[in-house]
Amino acid sequence: MGRRQGRLVLVRTGVYECIRSDQAYLFEVTCAASCFSFPVVRYATKIVTRLYYHGRSLSNQYRIVAIIAAALACGDPVEPPLPTNAVRMLAPRAYTLWWRLTETCSRIAGDLESINWYVVPGAADITVNGRAYQGYSWPRTNTIVLAGQAVLKGPLVRHEMLHALAGREHRREYFIDRCDGVVACTDDCAIEAGAPAPPPSDASEIPATALDVMIRIDPAQPSITADSGWIALIVEATNTHPFPIWARLTPVNEGTAAFSTFGYTVDCITACAGGTEYEFVYQDRIGFGSGQTRRQVFDRRLDPGTYQIRGFFNSDTTTSATLMVYP
Ligand SMILES: [Zn+2]
Repeated sequence: MGRRQGRLVLVRTGVYECIRSDQAYLFEVTCAASCFSFPVVRYATKIVTRLYYHGRSLSNQYRIVAIIAAALACGDPVEPPLPTNAVRMLAPRAYTLWWRLTETCSRIAGDLESINWYVVPGAADITVNGRAYQGYSWPRTNTIVLAGQAVLKGPLVRHEMLHALAGREHRREYFIDRCDGVVACTDDCAIEAGAPAPPPSDASEIPATALDVMIRIDPAQPSITADSGWIALIVEATNTHPFPIWARLTPVNEGTAAFSTFGYTVDCITACAGGTEYEFVYQDRIGFGSGQTRRQVFDRRLDPGTYQIRGFFNSDTTTSATLMVYP
């Protein structure tokens, strides 16, 4: 029997090309970039299926070679096991909104319905590979596990959603450049993705009131029936100058070291739980790149009623938007 030769090429769309000569196969698996976001096992299975489809039956020896080659070409196929105490969970209704926010900032479309949600009830964190996390995602199997106490923490849940859309790595392009302020990025993420780059220390300084501040509310007509009353308050501040600047902040109170940044105030027209929430830093200025918009998403759950909502960035406040939350 002659020596078997041929070439099997993986291309991004998942089409496999088997180039044959001498009636036989020699596997040469080329890994496309998308290999990293797809289950290697699925690739390997497809390789085998495809080769069968080409009308050739492979010996076990060749099938094993194909699987090993795919695994080597496409990275570590082994994902850590799910926490043993995780149980299946139906996605809360707020997740439809949070998924949409994550799709919008990342500019990647995905299918929320395809995510397998798990929760460890009541837990403050979950253990994966011996380490504690509030949530962890297994992009290859579209699985997300959350600690019970983190199920309704929007930035954290959106962080895991972003993994489902953009893959296991904390790529700066997604976690900082596109989705900073929408998804949480601390600990491993902050180390891997890096903090937003500051402007030069001698860049011009402007008062925070010279920034363009706006607020968007999503959805525009929330209701208890449709989304349990959850809304996203998206506060944005833009440096309208064509050069980097430092925005000079005023302190929260005279003589304190805390300086507010993004925030919002809910004023009630009908009886409701209103209030103010804001982020703050311990520094008296904050940097913006040329023309840069920075944003922060706040998640609130409101009872039916009518509200006036303002966004602010430090001492710069937007005009009030009237919001009705329907039963
Ligand atoms: Zn992460």
